Order: sequence, then C-alpha cells, then structure tokens
Amino acid sequence: MSDFLFRYRYYLARRTTQILLLGTYFLANLYGWSIVSGNLSSSVVFGFIPLSEPFATLQMFFAGAVISADILLGILVVLFFYGIIGGRFFCSWVCPVNIVTETAAAIRRKLKLQDKTNALPFSRNIRYWFIALALILSFVFSLAAFEMISPIGIAHRGIIFGFGFGWFSLVAIFLFDLFSQKYGWCGHICPLGGFNALIGKYSLIKVTHDATKCVHSLKCFLVCPEVEILELVGKKSHIISAKECIKCARCIEVCDSGAFKVSIVTLAKQLKEGA
Ligand code: SF4
Ligand code: SF4
Repeated sequence: MSDFLFRYRYYLARRTTQILLLGTYFLANLYGWSIVSGNLSSSVVFGFIPLSEPFATLQMFFAGAVISADILLGILVVLFFYGIIGGRFFCSWVCPVNIVTETAAAIRRKLKLQDKTNALPFSRNIRYWFIALALILSFVFSLAAFEMISPIGIAHRGIIFGFGFGWFSLVAIFLFDLFSQKYGWCGHICPLGGFNALIGKYSLIKVTHDATKCVHSLKCFLVCPEVEILELVGKKSHIISAKECIKCARCIEVCDSGAFKVSIVTLAKQLKEGA
C-alpha cells in the first residue's frame, strides 16, 4: 500500500487537488459560500482576490468588452502563478478535462493502442494556430469564441450546475483521444493549454533530468503527454525547459532510477542553458 501511495504520490495529489477545487466551487455555489465564486475563467476567492484567466480575457477584449480594473488585477494574479511559479500546471493540477484525457491515455496503454491508432497524426503546433483563430473569431463575432465551446468551461459548469448535453463534448474528446490520437485534445488542439504554455515558458518550477542516473528504460516516454519534450532524456542532464511540460510529474513517478526531479530553476540559469 505504501509503495502504491509513493509511486502515485503526484498523481493522487493532482486528482485530490482537482476534485477538491471542483467540490469547493460546487459547495460554494450550493451554499453561497464566499470562499470561491465564479468559474475557471473568472473567479473571486474569499470575496476579494480576483482570478481572471488571461486567454478568456483576451478573447473578451478582442470581442470589444471593456476590461475592468478588477479583471486586470485578476490577470496579474494568474500571470504570477503561471508566468513566474508553475507554468502550465493548470492543465495537470486544476483542469477537469485532464481527468478525461489521462483516463483515455491510460486505457490506450492498457489496450496497447498507442502505436496502432494514431489515425490522424498532426502537428502539436495546431493549438497555437487555434489561439489566433479564437481571437479572430472573437473579433469578428463580438463574443469570446473559444469560451462558447470550451470543454473546460462545459465540464466545470456541468459539475456545478448539471451537464445536460455537455457530456457529449467530453465523451467526444475521450473517444478521440482513445481511438485516434494519443493526447489528441490536450497535446495538439486545446488553445488554452497552448496559451498557458506560452506565458509559462520561463516559470521557476521545472522538471530536471539527470542522465547519469538514467537506465534507458524509456518508461517516461510511455506516460509523458508531451513526449517530444523528452528528446534529450538519456543523452544529457538538462532542464526540461519546453513550455509544453504540464508539470504532471508522471516522468518522476515511473522512473525507477530517480533520474527526474522537481527543481526551482532561475531565469538566469534557464537562459544560460539555452532554454
Ligand atoms: S490542454 Fe486544455 S483541456 Fe487539456 S488540461 Fe490543459 S487546459 Fe485543460
Ligand atoms: S516531462 Fe514529466 S512533468 Fe513534464 S509533461 Fe512530461 S511527464 Fe509530465
């Protein structure tokens, strides 16, 4: 049991955080608690700390909305967490869709589907084009375009207010990831994940790899949702500096030789290593 808890320590901590956060939103809405109100795009914590998701706000701006001082302050708070502290950690520690896509990936591994069913291999950079597309559509139609269809918002609203037809988009992502493309949604398409990657590139928390401990089992390649970022693993000790790392720590958990760890890496050191 203790082996299991240790092996999945980050996984369990992430799921607990995701479920606790969703539960807090749910209960706060049900009982009118001021601990947190709003949604994952725009919240107020303890009645006075604003949190505004930068990509959603940028879409609103392109749609012609006036951005209030509260929202700007909320963006600064979120930029601090994403840009300076943890990078793309929202994806693996907060986003409810991550539970769906990691489940699909785990089933793919169990059924050994990963190499057989990359039916539609396409570039991971498509997500960055979708950022531009969402902003153009927001401008043209005067509405926050991605927010209208975002499965993240659908999942969050569904858990708090009930799903209705919202289940369909999550089931579609699950089936797409399971049968068509490993981490198809989160690793290729989702513009929010791409946007957070851009703003979190030089965040302080990084995973680092010690090549002297690496036994080349390649287990990390099986579980990493952004597997291309491991290209130097086993070849040299380095910071996993790629902006796409979601800080899920699966590489740390599956590596029997302890070749990965979480580190605080200063901007100066990242630039020196050519990150
Ligand atoms: S890539 Fe998008 S859907 Fe996936 S975990 Fe990140 S924000 Fe959520
Ligand atoms: S490098 Fe490690 S922490 Fe980063 S995404 Fe891959 S498995 Fe997760």
